[in-house]
This record gives sequence, structure tokens and C-alpha cells, in this order.
Amino acid sequence: MKIPEKKFSITTPIYYVNDVPHIGHAYTTIAADVIARYKRLSGYKVFFLTGTDEHGQKVLQAARDLGIEPQEHVDQLHNRFKELWTRLNISNDDFIRTTEKRHQTLVSDILQQLYDRKEIYKDSYEGWYCTPDERFWTEKDLVNGNCPECKRKVEKIQEHNYFFKMGQYQDWLKKHIKSNDKFIQPTSRRNEVLGFLEKPLGDLCISRPKERLPWGIPLPFDEGYVTYVWFDALINYISAHGPLEKIGSTGFWPVNHHLLGKDILTTHAVYWSTMLKAIGFDPALNLFAHGWWTINGHKMSKSVGNTVEPNLLVDQFGVDAIRYFLLREVPFGLDGDFSHKALIGRINSDLANNLGNLLNRTMSMIKRYHDQMIPEPKSLDEDTDLKNEFQMGIEAVEKLYDELAYSKILERIWLLVDATNKYIDTNSPWNLMKSESGKQRLATVMYNTAECIRSISILIYPFMPKSAETIMEQLGIENSIEEQGLESLKTWGGIKSGGEIQPGLQLFPRIADEDAEKILNSIESPNDKDQKPSSHTEIEGICDQVLIDDFMKIDLRTGKIIEAEKIKKSKKLLKLKVDIGAEVRQVVAGIAECYEPDQLINRTIILVSNLKPVKLMGIESQGMLLAANNNGQVVLAGFDPKPSQGIRVR
Ligand SMILES: [Zn+2]
Repeated sequence: MKIPEKKFSITTPIYYVNDVPHIGHAYTTIAADVIARYKRLSGYKVFFLTGTDEHGQKVLQAARDLGIEPQEHVDQLHNRFKELWTRLNISNDDFIRTTEKRHQTLVSDILQQLYDRKEIYKDSYEGWYCTPDERFWTEKDLVNGNCPECKRKVEKIQEHNYFFKMGQYQDWLKKHIKSNDKFIQPTSRRNEVLGFLEKPLGDLCISRPKERLPWGIPLPFDEGYVTYVWFDALINYISAHGPLEKIGSTGFWPVNHHLLGKDILTTHAVYWSTMLKAIGFDPALNLFAHGWWTINGHKMSKSVGNTVEPNLLVDQFGVDAIRYFLLREVPFGLDGDFSHKALIGRINSDLANNLGNLLNRTMSMIKRYHDQMIPEPKSLDEDTDLKNEFQMGIEAVEKLYDELAYSKILERIWLLVDATNKYIDTNSPWNLMKSESGKQRLATVMYNTAECIRSISILIYPFMPKSAETIMEQLGIENSIEEQGLESLKTWGGIKSGGEIQPGLQLFPRIADEDAEKILNSIESPNDKDQKPSSHTEIEGICDQVLIDDFMKIDLRTGKIIEAEKIKKSKKLLKLKVDIGAEVRQVVAGIAECYEPDQLINRTIILVSNLKPVKLMGIESQGMLLAANNNGQVVLAGFDPKPSQGIRVR
């Protein structure tokens, strides 16, 4: 009889193709990769999906700025994600792009079916529209009359649009969340979604008129419209599986885990689940919303983001150290801080001193005491404590995988690393060497140590695939880790006696203190940067090159300073009111040592207007002035003659 195949599916969100891949994208994708690899080790057939979201206003705008077709633009851009996943050793089974035919066809089929079944209707609509975010807001959503998301100006728009009858599924969805504990995790996020559903759930506007936004999937029943980006993007999770009638029979639906950032939980929990309900599919089994990263204590921004650009981190520290750190440092679901200091600390303590040393000392002892061969143990019945410890550890790890408790899994595996190091110390092979009776015991001890390392290497494989494979090579084991599988850990003695080990390079070299210091010194906090006098190297321009579309994301505006005052208790900061035409911005600028407030009134400056607001000395700053730092003398950038305010500078 044929045993039915065990199947498992996991997804990351599809990433917005215009974004530059950053540590947050890497985090979600590595987390998904770990589960995918673990399930393969456990004998599952896995479908691991990631991809890119390629429609919408921002893509269109970026392509126009470059003077190329949007399709050409996304064909180039999506490779940045693909290439990064290759570097990070991501084992995705598919990569879906929303501009692919298989996706567009399915979106179109679903829209037509829902329209035929009267789940979609046309209505007139009036609302406040934020063009950059492609979103409508109601009057009460607005913050000071601006978009609550990006704080920019909104326009009142009245038009006809198509709506998905999402509201009718509100009661069903509430019930579904309440009766399925694991549907939304962690619990705090689940409660947020339930809180959101306490208010009446409206219908979802799923179209945009083509004349306003031509870059999207046309509605099959009305050529004058394209599909709203979210309604388009969410369907990627099933469009990778082929035509609608096939999806239910693939064995990969419902998906086991959708991993996502907490900012997009509502769209998944509410839009996507009700869409699936309407299409006739079960919702995902689990939505897991993870937290956000700050960088060395600061919010992620362009300037701090550069030092943790994932490709750069891989170059500097190696792929497995990064994979390990991201999942070990912070419990999945909580916010965390990425710091180079903590990363170097983990590399040196957990990887080099602990696991790395265990491997090295074992290799060198087997080389010296047993002529580079895995010895024959005197008996397999000795050392039951050690074996029990491993059995318990492996069972604990399996349970922790169900909770996606990555950091606890690694902690638990490292207890086994500790146990093995302790086993060596307690048995002191170097003493056993000295007598004939000791030598028989020595063979058992070295055999068991090698078997412990084999087990550890299988356990760390999902997190650090390359390192795990290197350990296997050094142990002289030719079977791949996936062939050995988790099953091979259930009985002791998977490693064969008589095999020749291949001692190699140190797996995790320690980062020397002076090197660590150099790395840490090269990382400036964004505040330091403003205050340091410009150095020669900065003038030389060692910044990485950027594409024009990256530059175009920065909205520089002319602005007129209409108010300026000193901030109490701060020597450096001034509080300014800057008129940028459409609105007046409050800006906190570190120029008090070089400019008197009165001197600034009526001056025309250049404002970075789409910088995320930050608080300085408790005062919100909604932008940043451009200035040159001439050996500590700050000089504001300006114009001659003066243009009027609110004009884009490029
Ligand atoms: Zn907005």
C-alpha cells in the first residue's frame, strides 16, 4: 500500500518590488526557510512560496521617472530579491510575481466568479484619497486633514468603483478566530484583530479607474478599471498552485503558515480570509505576525539601514551567522534590536567558542587517538544519561517548532552542545589515553561524541544549512542531511565506525577584539553623523551607488521658514515652522550653534519632506533640512534667486 505523502506549505508575503531588500525582508524569509527545511527533514513534501508584488502607483511612477515601461522596470527590480535569497541560502520552491500570466489569469478568474455570484457590485464612492498609498480614507481616519499612514495631503475624490461584499463575513470571521486558537499568533495580535472587528466591517473597494492608475490587472467585467493592489497581491498565495479547480487537490491548501510583519496582519486576517471564504476555500491554518527590527537602537531608516544591508552583512559575517543571529536574538513575534555588538558577541560565544570548539577539539582528538577514523565503541549501552539528554532535547525541539519558537529551539539545541562539551570534559579522553583499559573506554567516548555532533548538525541544519553540511563533511558522512533526516536521530548510533574524518578549517572563526572594535567604530549612529565635521573621505564620496529610482523616493521640497525658536535645555536644536506650500511642517534642526532664530525667518531652504517623523527632545520633527557641515560650521543649502515654496527639488 502506498503511504500518503505528508504535505506542508509555508509562505512569506510577496515583497513590494520597488523596496530595496532590507533586514526585515530577510528576517521573514529566513524564518520561513527554517520551517521549510525542518519539515523536509521530518519527511514532508514542502511547498515554500515567496515572490514580488509588482503593480501599483509607485512602480508606475518610478518607471516613468526612468523613462521605461513598468514591465521592464519590474523585470529588473525583482532580481534584487531573487539574488538576495540565493545568497541567504533560501530554499523556496517557487517565486511568484504578480505580473506573471499564471497569476493574472487566476486573479481575473476569481474576480469574474465573484462578480457572477454577486459578491462584487458597483457603487459610487466618495472619500479622501492618498495617491502615494493608493488608499481611500474616511473623514474620521484623517489626522490633521492628512493621510494617517504617510501624513501627506489627501484629495477628495468621488467616483464609481467596484466593491467586494466583505462586511457580510464579519460574524463568520469573528467566530472563526475565536474558535481557532492557532489561526492568528501571537495572542496579542489575535486580540488586536478581534478588537478591529468590534467595529462594523465595511465592504472593500477593489477597483481603481484606469485613467488614474493604469498599472494593474484589468477587471474582467469592466475594462475601465484595474484591480486594487491588495486584492491582486493576496491571491498570489493560491495562484502559484495553478487554475482554481486544481488548488484544492494539490494537498498544499490550506497553507500551514503565512509568516508576515505585524503591519500587514489586518489585510491578511480580514481581507484575505474573507476573500477565501467567498471564493470557497478554507482560510490559512495560521497567520504568524512577527515584530520589527530597530538598528543599533534606532528606527530603521535609509542612513542606518546601509550598515545592515543584508548583502553587506553576509559579506562581513557569513550567511549562517546572520541566519543564526536573527532567529536567536529575539523571540519571534516581538520587536528586536539589531546591533553589531550583539551579533559579534553571539558569533564569538555561541558559534566560535561553543559549537566551533566542540567540533575542532573532537576532530583533533579523533585524528590523534584513532588515526582519523571514527572508532568502534566498546558497547552501545554505556552513557545512557547522555543519550537520554539527547532524546529529550530532540523531543523538546520538535514541540517548539509547533510554536515557531525559534530562539527557544536554538537555546535548546545549545544545551546539547553544552552537554557534549561537558561529556568530553568529564571523561577526559587525554587521561583515558594513558592506560590500556582507558583506551577501550576512549573509543566509546569518542564514538559517542561524534554521534552527538552528527545529531547537533542535523538539528542546526534548518538554521545554518551550510555549516551543518560542513560538519557532516568533516565527520566523513556522505549521506546528505535530508537523506539522514530527523528519523535518524530516534536511535543512537547513526554514525558508522571506521569512517574517515576530514578535519577542515575552523567553522566559525572568532572575531578578534581589535577587528570587532574596527567594525563597531565604522558604524556611526545617525546622531553622531550630524555632529562630526566632514572628513576627507566623505568628500571623496565613498557612498554606495544608488539607482535613480532610489533617489527619486526622497521627496525634496523648497520651504520657507516662518517661525524659529530655541529649544530649552538644548544647545544644538532649533524648532522651526516651515511652509512647504500645501502645509506647514514643524522641524527640529541641529543648527542652533550656527544660526540665530531671527536670522532664519523668511529663508528658503530644502526640506526632505517624506522622512518618517521622529521625536527629538520630545518634540516631533516632520522633516529634515539639507545642510553642509563645513568642519563643524553648519551651512544651510539654499537658492539664488529664491523659488517659491513647495516646489520639488531634484
Ligand atoms: Zn498616504
